[in-house]
Amino acid sequence: MDTRTLSRLAGLASAVVLLAGTGCTADTVQGRPGASGLRDAYFPKAGNGGYQVEHYGLELGYDPADGVLHGRAVITARAEQGLSSFNLDFSGLKVERIAVQGTGARFNRTGTELTVRPADDLAAGEVFRTEVVYSGRPKPHEDPDGSTEGWIRLDGGAVAVGEPVGSMTWFPGNHHPSDKAAYDVVLTVPKGYEAVSNGRLRSRTDTGDGRTAFAWHSPEPVASYLVTAAVGRFTVTEGRTPSGVPLYSAVDPGEEAGSAPALGRLAEMTEWAAARFGPYPFSAGGAIVLPSGSLEYALETQTRPVFPGAPTEDLVLHELAHQWFGNSVSPASWKDMWLNEGFATYAEWLWAEEHGGPTAEQRFEAFLAGDTAVDPAADSDWDAFAPASPPGPEDISGNPVYHRGAMVLHRIRQEAGDAAFSALLRGWAAERRHGNASTADFTAYAEKQTGLDLRRVWDVCLYGKDSPR
Ligand SMILES: [Zn+2]
Repeated sequence: MDTRTLSRLAGLASAVVLLAGTGCTADTVQGRPGASGLRDAYFPKAGNGGYQVEHYGLELGYDPADGVLHGRAVITARAEQGLSSFNLDFSGLKVERIAVQGTGARFNRTGTELTVRPADDLAAGEVFRTEVVYSGRPKPHEDPDGSTEGWIRLDGGAVAVGEPVGSMTWFPGNHHPSDKAAYDVVLTVPKGYEAVSNGRLRSRTDTGDGRTAFAWHSPEPVASYLVTAAVGRFTVTEGRTPSGVPLYSAVDPGEEAGSAPALGRLAEMTEWAAARFGPYPFSAGGAIVLPSGSLEYALETQTRPVFPGAPTEDLVLHELAHQWFGNSVSPASWKDMWLNEGFATYAEWLWAEEHGGPTAEQRFEAFLAGDTAVDPAADSDWDAFAPASPPGPEDISGNPVYHRGAMVLHRIRQEAGDAAFSALLRGWAAERRHGNASTADFTAYAEKQTGLDLRRVWDVCLYGKDSPR
């Protein structure tokens, strides 16, 4: 059953009744409110129902001196039901005005929910534009696990990292990974600063008032937690991978020397990963390196990961692997995080195996034996819970999601053999390219692709309460 068809019919039926009753000739649509959340098991208010975003156009002015952000978001979305109102996720900042289809709209705010009431109801299937003008000093968001995300002011700049719900601190949107969209981000900053986002730099324009506007374009779908903005006095380097993917990296001058060994291999790593996981999914690549200590973590922001300080080779490889696993194939819900982290961790194992490090088999055994000489995380709490069942939202980035997640993949490799396992990794990245997937989608695909009954792997390693030791 396709509920969109049902609601469209329902909308049409009520319009017909109205027309018959009043003799009115207007194309009257009666909508109902869109849901205020997508019922994600761990972040129930993240995202909103009733529409899917197709494109975000963000125009952001930022001055590192006062930390004030001036924003204009133009959100193009398709209604999936008749809508009398719909919600955007937005936290802090002052909303100055909102227009839908060019007409001023009423709105109100409750917590992180911004409810918009268009002057005219929207019909199911209608593509509509919402413009939100806002400003203020963004306040970072604190997660259940204590980490900080969102728009973060730094000494002499700023950075935006959104996993899982921080993007609502700097632009209004449908902030759940299941609603991916294309982006155009224009960042206008005082002269002398660089401003970097995802995708390709389309233009860099002197605005004539002492500022520079950087226009970034991401044609492929992006989950909103992977959208970034970085403002600082970076050193920019541009290059290209052997197969032609343009690379654009922005590095804090103090981190240049330390970053050179790992970032110098980015083109080679991208080719290596494409040979194993299929063609690179995006039209640009690169990295953003902030002054050391700017953040508590690195993040695989789409096409251009953010690193707090000079990254190691393993870390660059990990965030690169996310471009396939997490960014192109995105989780259906936050409970499915092991599909991001287990795969990116296993990519590190594969890279090490082929570049003079331990084999994946040695790594797997090292975790079972707690041998930190092979992997320093082997004596961590990597088996505190099953990777597909993090106990709560504070656990979605816990050690088991990474390491035991990688062990699940290695168990499949043990059962299927190297050739079938390699085909599975490539096939999965192709099957769900630029889409979303749940754990159940993956287990079904793995069994279909390998022709194996993998129930024991799922029961013990992926879902099992007991340690796979
Ligand atoms: Zn990761």
